[in-house]
Amino acid sequence: MNKALLSVIAASLILASGNDVNANPTNNTAKAKQSKGLSTAVKWTQQSQEFTLLTHYLYRQATQALREKTLPTTPWLVIMDVDETLLNNSDYNKRLDLSNGNYTNESWRSWVHEENASAIPGAIEFVNTVFELGGQLALVTNRNQQDDAYTWRNLTNVGFGINSTNTCLVGKRAQDKAAIDNKQIINDKDLRRNAFVSGNASLCWTHKSSVKQRWNQPFTLVFQVGDNIEDIAKTTQKNTDMNSLLKRQGKDILILPNAMYGSWSH
Ligand SMILES: [Mg+2]
Repeated sequence: MNKALLSVIAASLILASGNDVNANPTNNTAKAKQSKGLSTAVKWTQQSQEFTLLTHYLYRQATQALREKTLPTTPWLVIMDVDETLLNNSDYNKRLDLSNGNYTNESWRSWVHEENASAIPGAIEFVNTVFELGGQLALVTNRNQQDDAYTWRNLTNVGFGINSTNTCLVGKRAQDKAAIDNKQIINDKDLRRNAFVSGNASLCWTHKSSVKQRWNQPFTLVFQVGDNIEDIAKTTQKNTDMNSLLKRQGKDILILPNAMYGSWSH
């Protein structure tokens, strides 16, 4: 057999083995793990001018509504969600897309501990206005309560002017879901919202007794802000009264766009 013929046979063998993925389990794994690329939802959140324009516009409307309100002369409160309301976590979702991964508690917790979420456009201005007008801010988030310190640092790092006097952050606890009775507690944030409004959110002063007086008093709830219908008291996807919410949007509630995830997606 001459040298040229040997080369042709060798090349054919290499090609044959390369094409037959079943002959090589490593190739199968590599193929399965190949990323499908970014989802439309992540692209829209990260790349579109529309997302920035909409969130800015919605927050500006809410800020103006707050300025035009006749505010209570007694203590008043704005309750806000954190994720996709104050903090933009689309880099976490981008990471999932690029690895063909799904949400897991572990990967989410690791992301929270990185403290790398950015601010949602328009959110800082709205929060500043709450403080300027004399309101207090309750952050009711479904991040785990054990991670409150990470969440707090991420918020201050991106420019939210929060401190323990003007803001209280309460992450999710086991009792929040267990308390749902479909009467007074309809969704897993109602228990915490009720505690804030009645002045019984004791977690606000556990670590700093000097702020107890500030939080241990009843509040008038002036605004509720989130990206999920359940960020509105006693509301779920199933019981939403659209006509009622339409009248309230931008006046005493604000729902922001989040195409990546929500109570609508499960
Ligand atoms: Mg959220």
